[in-house]
Amino acid sequence: MNRDALPEIDAAILADLERNMADLARLVAIPSVAAQNRGIEECALLVRDLLTERGYRSQIMPTAGNPVVYAEGDGDSERTLLFYNHYDVQPAEPLNLWESEPFTMSRRDGKVFGRGISDDKGHFISRLHALDAVRKVHGGRLPCRVKFVIEGEEEVGSVQMPAFIEANKQLLAADACVWEFGGEDENGRPEQYLGPSGHLLRGALGPHRRHRRALGHGRLHLSERGLAADLGIEHAERSGRADSHPRSLRFGQASLPA
Ligand SMILES: [Zn+2]
Repeated sequence: MNRDALPEIDAAILADLERNMADLARLVAIPSVAAQNRGIEECALLVRDLLTERGYRSQIMPTAGNPVVYAEGDGDSERTLLFYNHYDVQPAEPLNLWESEPFTMSRRDGKVFGRGISDDKGHFISRLHALDAVRKVHGGRLPCRVKFVIEGEEEVGSVQMPAFIEANKQLLAADACVWEFGGEDENGRPEQYLGPSGHLLRGALGPHRRHRRALGHGRLHLSERGLAADLGIEHAERSGRADSHPRSLRFGQASLPA
């Protein structure tokens, strides 16, 4: 893949837009509010199905709390990109502040509205959509291996994730992790958050890309020491925090050129 492929990828994204909007509407219609214990199983099943429909090997993994959806897809390279997302959402209350039904996706002024679209169902769908487009212009294959870990209790503190990660280190092992969200900066340039602490996976993004300290909260959990150097990750460091991710790598944010 190279930058010359971007117009073709953009065209593929546009061509497939409505299908993905329809999938987003299906996700939004499930009120997967972790704090109210609503819609969780149903939403995990739909997330699994959306992944399976696109050719990923997908499974629902039980935890002591809400299940995690895990999926994998093969690629041309041995390198692995892990996507973290969550399928639970915040409560919709207070309902009187909504201009449309929170669990019915609606469109106004070129925007889509619905509970959880901006955190985190829209991001999940946009990643599926983008990967579909990349695959379409790349001979039906992805350039690298991908993994997805999609949890169901981020909005109540990711209670089960430390134990889940500890129990599934090999399964989750990856060269880099793309955290749950992104957006645009004040100039409308797309941004992708890779983590919280100013570290950048420069080898993957190219040395010309602008970067700055991040606002996000992502981490990449690695199972082997010294991997950062092998991957060309600059400024990588071990997290010294005495928390549940004592061997994690943290990355910063990269702003992609508009
Ligand atoms: Zn979130």
